[in-house]
Amino acid sequence: MPENVIIIGSGPAAWTAAIYAARATLNPLVFEGNPNDDKNRQNGTLPLGQLALTTEVENFPSWPAGDTRQYLKTALKADDPDFPYWVSDDKPQPTHGINGPELVALMRQQAKNFNTRVESKDVVKVDLKSRPFTLTTHDGKTYQTHTLIVATGARANYLGLPSEDKFKNKGVSACAVCDGFLPRFKNQPIVVVGGGDTAVEEAGYLTKFGSKVYLLVRRDVLRASKIMAERAEQNPKIEIRWNTEVDEVLGEDKKGVTAVRVKNNKTGATEELAASGLFLAIGHTPNVGFLDGQLELNPGGYIKWTTLARTYTSVEGVFAAGDVADDYYRQAVSASGTGCMAALDAERYLGHHGLI
Ligand code: NAP
Repeated sequence: MPENVIIIGSGPAAWTAAIYAARATLNPLVFEGNPNDDKNRQNGTLPLGQLALTTEVENFPSWPAGDTRQYLKTALKADDPDFPYWVSDDKPQPTHGINGPELVALMRQQAKNFNTRVESKDVVKVDLKSRPFTLTTHDGKTYQTHTLIVATGARANYLGLPSEDKFKNKGVSACAVCDGFLPRFKNQPIVVVGGGDTAVEEAGYLTKFGSKVYLLVRRDVLRASKIMAERAEQNPKIEIRWNTEVDEVLGEDKKGVTAVRVKNNKTGATEELAASGLFLAIGHTPNVGFLDGQLELNPGGYIKWTTLARTYTSVEGVFAAGDVADDYYRQAVSASGTGCMAALDAERYLGHHGLI
């Protein structure tokens, strides 16, 4: 029997879609991704999505600062055998909101509480040309479904320099929260690239570990929100280098990154900054590869919503939610919003076609 609805993804869009679909008795199946895949780790596409790679989330409504430790202990089921992301007591108590990984873990738990089925697998192939749709997972199994919600999010970009690639996992990273605690960064200078909220957040986070953090901004202004930009500008351990880009990542095979050669794009002057690491925070690319061109994309490569204020895609019965389709707002709360919309759209589609 084909599924009513399969949801691919494991961020706020996917879990919100699952909560709505489960409560509508659609018995949803979520493919949250493979937690043991090294490529997923390197690309930042592990289950729980990008919120799991962030620190505190201060702007998700309903999370004023409070003793979240007590709440988490009762809300999350630590003994859930297929929950590899249990957030333990030794994580810091957030001071402004809630920790990102905990927020998304709570969403996952809420979806499971309504009997959402969760498979920790990557979907590697889809056939959207015949109905019901067919999905293939990384272990070669196939699944059929009447409707599909794609909520696979987006992953961090890299600069594309060969020297950057050479030192990935040896000092080059796109996730401060994942890698910042590594011994190689302790009391060493670190370079962060980018001018958005992610860059200033990561720079601030890395000051906990490094001796200082250089923030390379390619323009003479930060794109980050005012409150976060001010925090970075006022942090004595962050040195912002304006109009500056990475020219080359320098290092040794064994030691990894030892310095970053930077270039002022106004004067052309170059300089070597001694550093044990380079963190990229220069935007994202939507995770659409597995679709193999079967859904229409917008010019930026994001799934195109074909109807205003709906989550419809170019294939009837396939809906898109969250960052995989949203290149503009890209917030956890807006992803949740479109996840809700996608589940309601799927339910209406199923009803309209007499499939439920
Ligand atoms: P973003 O806002 O798109 O910023 C990307 C930054 O990288 C920009 O400053 C851009 O420079 C720079 N950049 C891009 N390509 C570059 C290159 N090749 N070399 C050097 N610099 C490059 O991405 P983001 O910071 O990841 O944020 C994404 C969304 O998530 C935003 O909506 C943001 O508000 C949100 N977010 C929110 C929070 C929070 O509220 N706690 C935290 C993180 C992210 P230009 O400015 O010159 O284009």
